[in-house]
Amino acid sequence: MQYNNDNDRQIYREELAPRLPKRIFDAHVHVWSRDSVPSGTTYPERSYKNFTGGTFTLEQWREAMKEILPEQEHWLNCFDCPAKETYRDKVPPVNHKNEFAMVLVSPADPAELVQERIERSGAIGLKPYLNYAAEVLNKPSNDVEINEMLTPEQLRMLDAKGLAITLHIPRSGRFADKLNQRQMIALCENYPNIKFIFAHIGRAYFMRNIRESNIEEFAKYPNAYFDTAMVNSTEILRYAFDHFPTKRILFGTDSPIALLRGKSVEINNQYAYLMGENYSIGTSIIDHEHSVHFTTFFYEQLRGILDAAPAGAAEDILFNNAYKLFTNLC
Ligand SMILES: [Zn+2]
Repeated sequence: MQYNNDNDRQIYREELAPRLPKRIFDAHVHVWSRDSVPSGTTYPERSYKNFTGGTFTLEQWREAMKEILPEQEHWLNCFDCPAKETYRDKVPPVNHKNEFAMVLVSPADPAELVQERIERSGAIGLKPYLNYAAEVLNKPSNDVEINEMLTPEQLRMLDAKGLAITLHIPRSGRFADKLNQRQMIALCENYPNIKFIFAHIGRAYFMRNIRESNIEEFAKYPNAYFDTAMVNSTEILRYAFDHFPTKRILFGTDSPIALLRGKSVEINNQYAYLMGENYSIGTSIIDHEHSVHFTTFFYEQLRGILDAAPAGAAEDILFNNAYKLFTNLC
């Protein structure tokens, strides 16, 4: 499958390649195969899962990266898709050298079972998701609290092992939500050996959300990290880089979603994904008329980081920070 067109290749050559480090670490990738789900599983027509043919295996990721970043060495941290149908005992078969993986976890999974999955797979941490808690608690996923996504037993086990969690925070107020803010800080405080990677910069995809966040408060917790997955706004990235140590910000893309053509944009204190092709991811506005030429979210995210990063920080964000973090976890 081909991801780049001539215009993308030109963007890479002219805008990205001269400024990118030789190694790129993507800390947020979803990887899954036919074995991850019951046979016969199909996805809604406009699901991104169909875009890569119904799977996104490590082999597909490696092939895609050769095309998208042809001059770089590629590293990743990955997890399966946190969907109801996914088998949580299947962990992506990474090589543990430049590839790392996390185990999907539901609050319904006993801590001993989760520990066994971590040890068997060599995973470096956990990936909880609000939908799993919503299912267990039988409540709408928007009402789930961070404290309901993992059990104290799971957290204690992970703290004892000193591993990581990639946390996609819940609730419609996201990073501006006071309850989220308190519970995020409490996690960092109560489990000092767990590395908390708050995904998508706390899902703050528009300026008011990050301005009303407490991101600067996390600076004093050395176990707090943020990943940049799907944030392509230079303004939001710059705000994060100005208010939190850049040594603890990790580049992440949310591939294979990031391989689609599109750009997230801020509209009247909200955000939407402008989609250059006929797939739907969250709040999407699809350009059916092909009014503009899009590049991929992947390249838009790299542009955003390269433009927003303070002098000398891009290589840390794009590689060094994740390298230090993940190679120390195994
Ligand atoms: Zn994700």
